[in-house]
Amino acid sequence: MNYDVIVLGAGIVGVSTALQLQARGRSVCLVDKLAPGEGASFGNAGLIERSSVIPYAFPRSLTKLIRYAFNRESDVHYQFSYLPKIAPWLFSYWWHSSKKGIAKAAAAMLPLIERCVIEHDVLSTKAQMQPLINDKGWIEIFRDSKVFEHAKKQAEQLAKPPYLLQYDVLTTQQFRQLEPAFNDNVKGAIHWLQPKTVCDPCALTKGYAALFVKQGGILMKQSVIGLTAVENRWQVKLSATNLLAKQIVIALGADSADLLRTLGYKVPLGVKRGYHRHYAMTSDNKLNRPVCDHLAGFIIAPMTKGVRLTTGAEFSWDSSPANDIQLKRDEAIISSYYHLGKPIESIPWFGRRPCLPDMVPVISELPYHKGIWTNFGHAHHGLTLAPATGRLLAEMMTDEKPFTNPTPYKIERFIH
Ligand SMILES: Cc1cc2nc3c(=O)[nH]c(=O)nc-3n(C[C@H](O)[C@H](O)[C@H](O)COP(=O)(O)OP(=O)(O)OC[C@H]3O[C@@H](n4cnc5c(N)ncnc54)[C@H](O)[C@@H]3O)c2cc1C
Repeated sequence: MNYDVIVLGAGIVGVSTALQLQARGRSVCLVDKLAPGEGASFGNAGLIERSSVIPYAFPRSLTKLIRYAFNRESDVHYQFSYLPKIAPWLFSYWWHSSKKGIAKAAAAMLPLIERCVIEHDVLSTKAQMQPLINDKGWIEIFRDSKVFEHAKKQAEQLAKPPYLLQYDVLTTQQFRQLEPAFNDNVKGAIHWLQPKTVCDPCALTKGYAALFVKQGGILMKQSVIGLTAVENRWQVKLSATNLLAKQIVIALGADSADLLRTLGYKVPLGVKRGYHRHYAMTSDNKLNRPVCDHLAGFIIAPMTKGVRLTTGAEFSWDSSPANDIQLKRDEAIISSYYHLGKPIESIPWFGRRPCLPDMVPVISELPYHKGIWTNFGHAHHGLTLAPATGRLLAEMMTDEKPFTNPTPYKIERFIH
């Protein structure tokens, strides 16, 4: 029960980190209360999002804020009773979403995003998971010509250094050639070419975890209760046993802050809930790649199980049951341009996106607990970033030269 490293959390972030440590010769134990990939990593939209170089910021325009105040939008929904609880976090998110704040976050994220496809290619090839991955990019669609014109101008900026994004601008007809199941109510589209997409993100995480086990890693299904120092090692108290290791990685997604609080660190980790539901896909509504409705903030993606509709963000109590209001709003919008088949599940799935208010994950050693490291807060892009952030953390933990400067991701930015 003595390992070089114990990684806590077997979501896509924990599993990728465990593989990167294993590749550097460490004996690793990976612990989760669930099977790998059953948290937020279970049900995302499957984008390995090479083109999302500008983080999702808090809206600053008054018109948008007024629209959100009515709580009738499809991209963001909130429970009124939860607002007082989340207000300080929202304020911090708003504060960091100034032009300067967004530029800082975008600069911090770029080195990670630039590596996202390359690092997934390495892991998916080793894990023989390539059949789950598609290289047809994804398409952003516009229902309003003015909004489309504006988006084209923004895309032109993203084609320039430092971003160098590649895309095709599509007329309605060109879009329909790629996605014939849509009608003419789509006024134009942008096809982002560099991202890859996954048709079963949970299966991908499980495939990576299977590779970890095949290579000699230990996978344990237990709850993490706490961490204590024992001589020059860390003891992880689990629900049924205790484990010892020189180094620990906290990769518990949206629950990471709870364990950190027991060690005296108060990290402002907010949760944006997101939903999905599947619909039957037949030859009549065949989808060839993920399609995102720009204004409504949802994605429909072809998955193993059918068409997966994933929603924007909901702010609600953790104990609240699933609420399909955003899915219903999205369904109504979709019906104007695409026929969603028969719903497959009656109760939708939801996952908790772990979000820091400055839009940057925490990839860091704890300053007052040497040997305990963190990798969490990947927000809307955990699937995208996990192999890259796992690599960066593994390089830091093994004293290798990190592929990028790790300073922007340090936990110290939240500790005063
Ligand atoms: C609807 C939706 C769509 C999304 N679309 C995309 C997308 O297209 N592309 C993209 O890149 N990202 C997307 N995301 C975001 C992405 O899914 C997350 O960022 C990512 O899954 C976070 O991974 P994680 O490993 O940090 O967290 P998780 O997958 O939640 O893993 C954390 C793990 O910790 C375990 N755990 C927690 N507490 C304990 C404990 N006490 N003891 C033991 N185990 C514990 C949990 O069981 C869980 O398995 C989307 C998210 C949602 C909700």
